[in-house]
Amino acid sequence: MLTLKYLQGYPAELLAQVQGLIDAGRLAEHVARRHPEASPVRNERELYDYVCALKARHMKSAPPLAKVVFDPKLHVVKNALGTHTAVSRVQGGRLQAKREIRIAALFKDGPADFLRTIAVHELAHLKEREHDKAFYALCRHMEPDYHALEFDLRLWLTARELGAGPADNARCTNTAKDSDGHGT
Ligand SMILES: [Zn+2]
Repeated sequence: MLTLKYLQGYPAELLAQVQGLIDAGRLAEHVARRHPEASPVRNERELYDYVCALKARHMKSAPPLAKVVFDPKLHVVKNALGTHTAVSRVQGGRLQAKREIRIAALFKDGPADFLRTIAVHELAHLKEREHDKAFYALCRHMEPDYHALEFDLRLWLTARELGAGPADNARCTNTAKDSDGHGT
């Protein structure tokens, strides 16, 4: 059974178009054609510089970032595309809020457009906690095509999951037959 869990909340007509692409086996190709450029970031040092450069360009007044990391355990579900935390620590007698951004590791090997989208999303959370009007206004300030990019990012996540599904199932079936010694 197919799932559109990454696309909840989008209009039914749009979802019908997505389903059409899935049924035709063309969703991954559709996304790849629109976002051909690979992520420019190969490690966390580069990720930190990349996010800080975006911040310097669009959000100079926000507090500095202590840390930006790829998190392989971060599950990309619903709106939790990344996480942002402010860890309070006492340093030299002063309480300092340490800003950290964690980005799901899968974005390292994805299209450049989606790494930028997720970086913009997490940077916007430095100022706006909720996914409200002010939050999305800030996202669009950094990336005018933010809404279209987030939609395509969700298509990409959907395509990845659909791509992994059948192969895994096939492997399981084969293993079961081998160990049973008899298939029905
Ligand atoms: Zn968010």
